[in-house]
Amino acid sequence: MEDSEKINVLIVDDRPENLLALGEILNDSELNIIKAESGNETLALTLEHNFALILLDVQMPDMDGFEVAELLRGKKETNHIPIIFVTAISKEQKYIFKGYDSGAVDYLFKPIDPDIIVSKVRIFVELYRQKKLIEEQTNSLERLAFYDPLTHLPNRTLFFDRFTQALAHAKRSNSIVALLSMDLDRFKKVNDSLGHDVGDLLLKEVSERFKGFLRSGDTVARLGGDEFAIILSDNSTAYNVSIVAQKIIDTISEPFHLKDYTCSVGTSIGIAVYPSDGNDIEHLTKSADIAMYHAKNEGRNNYQFYSENLNVNTIERLAFENELHKAIDNKEFILFYQPVFEPHRKKIVSMEALIRWQHPSRGLLQPGDFIPLAEETGYIKKIGIWVAQRACKQIKEWQKAGYKDIRVAINVSAQQFSQKDGMKSISRIIKEEEISPGCLELELTESCILENEDNATVTMHELRNLGIHHAIDDFGTGYSSLKFIKQLPINKIKIDRSFVKDITENKDDSAIVTAIIAMAHSLQLKVVAEGVETKEQLDYLNRLGCDEIQGYYFSTPLPVDELEELMSEEKVPATA
Ligand code: C2E
Ligand code: CA
Ligand code: CA
Repeated sequence: MEDSEKINVLIVDDRPENLLALGEILNDSELNIIKAESGNETLALTLEHNFALILLDVQMPDMDGFEVAELLRGKKETNHIPIIFVTAISKEQKYIFKGYDSGAVDYLFKPIDPDIIVSKVRIFVELYRQKKLIEEQTNSLERLAFYDPLTHLPNRTLFFDRFTQALAHAKRSNSIVALLSMDLDRFKKVNDSLGHDVGDLLLKEVSERFKGFLRSGDTVARLGGDEFAIILSDNSTAYNVSIVAQKIIDTISEPFHLKDYTCSVGTSIGIAVYPSDGNDIEHLTKSADIAMYHAKNEGRNNYQFYSENLNVNTIERLAFENELHKAIDNKEFILFYQPVFEPHRKKIVSMEALIRWQHPSRGLLQPGDFIPLAEETGYIKKIGIWVAQRACKQIKEWQKAGYKDIRVAINVSAQQFSQKDGMKSISRIIKEEEISPGCLELELTESCILENEDNATVTMHELRNLGIHHAIDDFGTGYSSLKFIKQLPINKIKIDRSFVKDITENKDDSAIVTAIIAMAHSLQLKVVAEGVETKEQLDYLNRLGCDEIQGYYFSTPLPVDELEELMSEEKVPATA
């Protein structure tokens, strides 16, 4: 057994020969017998070591055993140590009581019976061992409750605790507290491309680097994922805080060597300072987060102080924008599919892929909630590629499942359409996923085509030559002209749902739809009516000779599993 694992027992006697004898009796490989010859030596040793038990002689020259016991009882560090008095003086009751009064657990008389003392010591050693075990278990539970198991940094709970303390201290002493809210740039990339093991290693290394900046009063915590926070107390000026922030950025930008990889990440830091940016944890955390979004928006790998100028709208927008930019990596987008029916055969002829965003806190968001922002920020191009990829993978899955001639339509934004590589990426994806181009239909609006007038025709012909279908979406809402339609390789026209809405009552709408259908048919184009919600609308459109129907009457957009149920059953309501 290692010395450090042995259990300490202290034996105290002013006569060395007694100590020697007692030491012999108690000699045991599990025990570390420590000897003291006086009361003072006893007191000193108890501060140095943990003892499972003290065997304490009563009669000693400097102070008697009772006095020593009383002094030990009086101190927090030593009042738990069991004491057995060992004495030759008197068996009179009053001594025994005195011994118990001063906290003794037992009383033994010289000459000592070796068997008795060994068995008593054994009992106390065992008690001590069990107590230690319980303490260790409690400690590890505590660690679990307050520390992040991966990085061993304080977790969110302990972070709040420390922050509360730091604020209370700052309030009393009129000092400032700075909160640095940080997350890693490009962490997700490392995690996804090099695997979680490497991702975990990176988080550990990052934590180590963070720890390097801190002074004793500061706290760095891991709040979750790649989110960290630092509490800096007593940094009397904003200048000091910015020095720390810049150091953190510089240090985290240094490459990390993990297993066989070298990778670089950065960090964006938002800073909120008590008392100017908030009086309590909630406000300060929010301010620091806002500042961090701002930092990310400023191109990442920089720090920003919170400022009042970041008003609520900009803040929410920045936060939302930041979340939107993470949505692909975080796998938060989903495609729903709305079937398009051929009313006479009551058959599903195609599906329109419609994007949804499963937002971590706001729930399932509809395109109207985020597509405008995505267009404004240009992120729509990435979304477009994601949609094409997902839809092509889905086509392939359905083909494998036996739905050979399924066709899926995706919505293409003007920005994607205007970019040469935006369209190239679609043909690349088709090749990668090995699907027949005829299974894919692109929905383009009139304005989308007009905005790219010069290249539109060329691009569309190239795609058409591959076999890709085109549909004009929301037809009737733009500058629809026959001439325009004639020049383009189009397969289908989708009548905007605003014309369908009142078609049974509104003569104008009815006339427009009649004209669109006639014109489309004269050009050998199929016509789809969008937004068909009632049987009356369906019957009316049927009479006008509309080829295909899309709308809530047959089916709302559905997640894949629900759509597959519908595909297998083809539960289509009867038409008139
Ligand atoms: P859209 O291309 O006109 O898509 C049809 C919209 O009409 C869908 O709205 C659909 O849920 C809704 N709809 C279908 N049937 C009915 C009905 O019977 N009644 C009513 N009132 N509405 C019906 P959603 O899914 O909210 O999409 C809105 C728009 O967002 C789409 O209009 C499209 O312009 C855009 N969008 C959706 N997904 C994507 C995408 O993946 N990429 C791009 N760039 N835009 C998308
Ligand atoms: Ca559409
Ligand atoms: Ca439409």
